Amino acid sequence: MRILLTGGAGFIASHLTEKLLSAGHYVIGMDNLITGRMENIAGVMNDPNFEFIKHDVSNYIDVKGELDYVLHMASPASPVDYLEHPIKTLKVGSLGTHNSLGVAKEHGAKFLLASTSEVYGDPLVNPQPETYWGNVNPVGPRGVYDESKRFAEAITLAYHRTHGIDTKIVRIFNTFGERMRHQDGRVVPNFIDQALNNEPLTVYGDGSQTRSFCYVSDLVAGLIKLMDSALNEPVNIGNPEEMSILEFAQKIIKMTKSKSEIVYEELPVNDPKVRRPDIAKAKKELDWEPVVSLEEGLNRTIGWFKKEAEADL
Ligand code: UDP
Repeated sequence: MRILLTGGAGFIASHLTEKLLSAGHYVIGMDNLITGRMENIAGVMNDPNFEFIKHDVSNYIDVKGELDYVLHMASPASPVDYLEHPIKTLKVGSLGTHNSLGVAKEHGAKFLLASTSEVYGDPLVNPQPETYWGNVNPVGPRGVYDESKRFAEAITLAYHRTHGIDTKIVRIFNTFGERMRHQDGRVVPNFIDQALNNEPLTVYGDGSQTRSFCYVSDLVAGLIKLMDSALNEPVNIGNPEEMSILEFAQKIIKMTKSKSEIVYEELPVNDPKVRRPDIAKAKKELDWEPVVSLEEGLNRTIGWFKKEAEADL
């Protein structure tokens, strides 16, 4: 297939690109490089089946030649990033999704939207099944991301229902792995960097809030299965192993054999108190479930962060 991948220089997209190329597909990565990085795709830049176009998908997208699939993964995804770029985040979720759907329609291509567990907001139901409508504060600081993704889901299904485009929606839960940006502010890179430097780990609030972390290769395997499926309604992809952020901090300290202490900082506004995917639908419809344990995924990720730190010296 000839595939357009928006957000192509992002963390998850770069892993997906490698997988798609190894399966024999042609990939056009598109990114405005606000949070994406060329280093992420350095390994595929010379691949004859890959091309990169620097473009902001919130503006009209023009792609020459045939397209079989449009994967719309462009968006700031870390709370720190989307709070720094609130309007760009709203635009890429709304105008960017509209433009990406327009390209898919123009080329008769299938379409996949990367949505998020943030559509559930600060959930009152745990774990979250796809049938849960969420608890989102539209005017809170996180609303810029949550509401743009909720709009993105709505317009994706409207294109499916109105224009008959074969669309898919994945709700991605916390994902981690090699190539996460050191400064993106999310808990995994923050804690690993802090632990490796023997600096205090910054736990926000009292650390009782929970998250469930999925290793990137598991997520990518789920995305590939979803691409090939007939599922048009949203599906959760994530690892249901839930833990508190305080437990997570202790685990990182132990795994890195760090001398770091834990310090407590203010909890960000509207930070979800719990998050855990109900993956019954992915299991049943996609025959997918995560296979990499948290320990194994963290070992690989910590190893990569160590190598990066050594390369910087
Ligand atoms: N968090 C933390 N310390 C950090 C970064 C994040 O305690 O240095 C917390 C954050 O408040 C949230 C959880 O870790 O409860 C996950 O945050 P992240 O930014 O990774 O993503 P989120 O799941 O909130 O989108």
